[in-house]
Amino acid sequence: MAASFGSRAPHHGQRASNSSHGSSSASSAAASSSTTARSNGNASLGQNNRPKPPGSRRSVTPTSRAHSNASVDEVSGRVRVAVRLRPRNSEDLLLDADYADCVELQPELKRLKLRKNNWNSESYRFDEVFTDTASQRRVYEVVAKPVVESVLSGYNGTIMAYGQTGTGKTYTVGRLGKDDASERGIMVRALEDIISNISHASDSVEVSYLQLYMESIQDLLSPEKINIPITEDPKTGELSLPGATVVNVHGVDHFQELLQIGEANRHAANTKLNTESSRSHAILMVNVRRYVDGEDKEETNLQDRDQTDLPRSKPIPIVRKSKLLIVDLAGSERLDKSGSEGHLLEEAKFINLSLTSLGKCINALAENSAHIPFRDSKLTRLLRDSFGGSARTSLIITIGPSARHYAETTGTIMFGQRAMKIVNMTKLREEFDYESLCRKLESQVDHLTAEVERLEKLRENDKGKLERQLKECEDSFSGAETLMKRSEFLEKENDRLESEMKDILNELNRQKDQNGLMHNNISELQTHINYIQGQQEINELNMKLEKMHELHKEGAAELQLIKVECEALLHEKAKLTEDLHTMRERLLQEENHRKNIEDELIKVKKLVADNQKDQKEKQLDMKENVGKGSTPNGSNPLKETQSSQRTTIAKICEEVGLEKILALLASEDTDVQIHAVKVVANLAAEDIHQEKIVEGGGLHALLMLLQSSRNPTVLRVASGAIANLAMNELNQGLIMSKGGARLLANVASTTDDPQTQRMVAGAIANLCGNEKLHVMLKEDGGLEALLGMVRSGTNDVTAQVARGIANFAKCESRAVIQGHRKGRSLLMEDGALEWLLANNDCASTSIKRHIELALCHLAQNKDNWRDFMSSGAVNRMQRISVESSREDIRNLAMKTLKLFPTHQTDLYPTHQTDLHGV
Ligand code: ADP
Ligand code: MN
Repeated sequence: MAASFGSRAPHHGQRASNSSHGSSSASSAAASSSTTARSNGNASLGQNNRPKPPGSRRSVTPTSRAHSNASVDEVSGRVRVAVRLRPRNSEDLLLDADYADCVELQPELKRLKLRKNNWNSESYRFDEVFTDTASQRRVYEVVAKPVVESVLSGYNGTIMAYGQTGTGKTYTVGRLGKDDASERGIMVRALEDIISNISHASDSVEVSYLQLYMESIQDLLSPEKINIPITEDPKTGELSLPGATVVNVHGVDHFQELLQIGEANRHAANTKLNTESSRSHAILMVNVRRYVDGEDKEETNLQDRDQTDLPRSKPIPIVRKSKLLIVDLAGSERLDKSGSEGHLLEEAKFINLSLTSLGKCINALAENSAHIPFRDSKLTRLLRDSFGGSARTSLIITIGPSARHYAETTGTIMFGQRAMKIVNMTKLREEFDYESLCRKLESQVDHLTAEVERLEKLRENDKGKLERQLKECEDSFSGAETLMKRSEFLEKENDRLESEMKDILNELNRQKDQNGLMHNNISELQTHINYIQGQQEINELNMKLEKMHELHKEGAAELQLIKVECEALLHEKAKLTEDLHTMRERLLQEENHRKNIEDELIKVKKLVADNQKDQKEKQLDMKENVGKGSTPNGSNPLKETQSSQRTTIAKICEEVGLEKILALLASEDTDVQIHAVKVVANLAAEDIHQEKIVEGGGLHALLMLLQSSRNPTVLRVASGAIANLAMNELNQGLIMSKGGARLLANVASTTDDPQTQRMVAGAIANLCGNEKLHVMLKEDGGLEALLGMVRSGTNDVTAQVARGIANFAKCESRAVIQGHRKGRSLLMEDGALEWLLANNDCASTSIKRHIELALCHLAQNKDNWRDFMSSGAVNRMQRISVESSREDIRNLAMKTLKLFPTHQTDLYPTHQTDLHGV
């Protein structure tokens, strides 16, 4: 069905009208361009015709459509007309209940029977007949789609709805279908098709939406624009609507928004004018611009190319401009029928002037009249191209079923029948895009103009240069002429001079001969003169001889003096040689001495090593012997070794010198360091050497070893040496001031070697015996390190710890008793008391003794009593007073216990309250 409706050729017996071809010659200018209107921003009507110069149009001769067969792209096409029957509405149902419909549809025959009465009816054939059940989609596809397709191909198109008010024109054409997509009308569907078929990169779709009422055009997209004029270019015949809004549509949603705005504005405007929408025409104008691929336009462009000398690779872009008009006409009923608008008759005529004119034009066209009154109304001016023009046109007429409106329905059907007779000559509206071509050419012209100017300038420059060169040539030519003359003159001069020279040469030869003669004369004279001069010379020589004699005498005297001096110097030299000799001998001696010392050192090393070995062996022996419960000689082998070692070392020290040994402490070689530190440690064990060691910087060197050495032996022996030195009160302060406590604490915390720990503990224990150093010892972590070393669990180490605490406590108590010091013991904070209590029952008697002494000393300080009471140390004291193995300790404990208060409360006498803050 769609195909038959959409076919271009008339397809059945209906008479195609040709008469209209000739009839509209007044408006026959075929070519059209909307360029002018576009650049003015106006809605272009596009169907106006303007003759174009030959060659500028692609296909159409600038003559009327009467010569249509002259062009391939010009195709005759009849106006297609479909009829649509609206379903009965409630009014129809109410009022026509007893009547039969006045129309009867035969869609398969595309016929419509109009019943005048029961026995009289007439049948009409249409291009399509839609029953009241026809879908919006089918109506679009049959009526509008072929038109939309030809618009996309570059032809103008018109879709128009005609019919009585209430029969469904707006439903068919303008329905938005926002809620129900199946209800969308022709406008929405047409735009959807167009938008989806164009290239969004190059092509464009622009719409204007207008209302025509009482011969006034109003912009539905900007309702403040009323009375928009239709202007016509007197030369080109181009129609435009200056000022009408043109919107570039970029999507269906966008378009639907525009349509909705238009609809709202249409409603508002009609309310203001106190009229109905049915009285106005709504016109949607869609301008499509599509660019055509230049490839298939080769032949057409060749000619142009040759003329314009454009590069072959860039054909002139071709643009197809087409226009689609979708018109929702005002109701076709005669005004006097409804009559309720309250307009005067003239007004009423004016209201419908456009529609009446349209009817007249359709009539005239259908009857092939000579004159078509397009100019009578605005609507017919706008639709001139749609009827009998170059556009492809589809008309849908809408009717209602009710017999009440028989007359209107008949009128509508007759309008449709007449419209079917109109034949349009559709033309491809394609043209070169002269705007872009023009731009291209302009830029080319600009380019060439610049080039010409550049060349002109270059030519001028060249001309100037050539002129200058010519001048130079002329100048040099005249110069050459003068030179020629000059050279001729010089040649002559040359000849003259040559002959002159010959003359002179002859003269010279002659004079030479004369000269030879003169020479002979002169030599004769010379011999004569020589004789006379000889006598004079002898006299002069005699005088010189006398002078020389005198000089000789002076020289002899001087020589005598020098001889004397020389003798003295020789004497001195002999003396110096002697000195030198003695010096050498002394040096030799010193060298020997040095060698001896070195040998000695090697011996020392060996000795020390041997001694160590001996000692170890002896220790092993001893252990074995102890195990067996007897000593071989009754004497102590360890002591013996030690003393013999010390004697050896003392000997070494005497031989080598303490200074050198101390220097070896800083040696880079660890072995040397170990030997040296061992020697120093042994020396430090004896009071007589200690002072010298300290004076010689030995203490400092040992402390440095504690700080820097990682060697366990060095650390152990150095700690021992420091422990020895720390026995001397004079050294204790020095050790502390040099950070000895901190260094020892550091060694204690890093080593696990019990021997080293014993040495360190011994050293700290010695320092504990100096009350002046107590605070510093605590602050430098010495106390904490001391107590920490009990972790070793070795009796030797524990004994040193206990001794240290006892020493500390003793000195502290002494100070408290003497009144130098006040307050709780510094030992308390480091948990010494707890440790003392925990280790009191230690197996070693010496440890036990130290602990007992320490407790007794601490107990003498009243400020420690609180700790004693709370820790149970009082009980321990009582036990010591009874159980201690030493009488002096038992007595001391007893004496101290008597000092203790009998009651807890007495611990804090009133005068001590502030001190304790209780
Ligand atoms: P007109 O624009 O011709 O005055 P309308 O399009 O406004 O008529 O239609 C009048 C009423 O009839 C509207 O309510 C419309 O929804 C309804 N109508 C028209 N045609 C149809 C149809 N084919 N199917 C359903 N309802 C229709
Ligand atoms: Mn309507």
